[in-house]
Amino acid sequence: MDWKLWEPLIEFARKRSLWIVSFCTGCGGIEMPPLMTSRYDLERFGMMPNPAPRMADLFLITGYVTPKTLKRIIITYEMQPDPKYVIAHGSCTINGGIYWDAYNAIKRLDAYIPVDVYIAGCMPRPESVMEGINKMMEMIENGTADSWKRYKENYEWYKKNQDELFGEGWREREAKRWLPWIMDDLKRVEKEREKND
Ligand code: SF4
Repeated sequence: MDWKLWEPLIEFARKRSLWIVSFCTGCGGIEMPPLMTSRYDLERFGMMPNPAPRMADLFLITGYVTPKTLKRIIITYEMQPDPKYVIAHGSCTINGGIYWDAYNAIKRLDAYIPVDVYIAGCMPRPESVMEGINKMMEMIENGTADSWKRYKENYEWYKKNQDELFGEGWREREAKRWLPWIMDDLKRVEKEREKND
């Protein structure tokens, strides 16, 4: 079967069923509740928030970014399946905003992960976010939402920037930090299961 024939239908379905993982790193996140609830009701576009990155295709980053949060942003982004899309919401996210001269603010998010749509403002109102989401949907439909491809094609460049900031081998170091905690948690779940059996 030639899947190319189905491509327009697939893209239409994809743009109308976006599951969002929202990373509310700062005050911009306060716009999310009115967006999702009855005032603006984003669900009518088939969108819904999802706490699991592995099941979300849209990554909405809504606030200032520090090296510490950037690590989580990169790890979350890499956990999402392809095709995936990124919206940078607010000046701080895009270029540090009012914190641009703070020692600990990331000034350029798109040097570390790719971005499809930028929503300027401090903080952008829900109408601007809706506009950004409409733009995202248009780009998905016409095939120009290609940040996930750019990340793969230019992975060496993104990795170089990430390593310059965090030092080489930072993923392994992060994994080692979290592994004991995950193992403890698994043991606890196992014990509870045994108790209930
Ligand atoms: S852009 Fe404004 S609203 Fe958004 S995180 Fe920065 S200071 Fe807060």
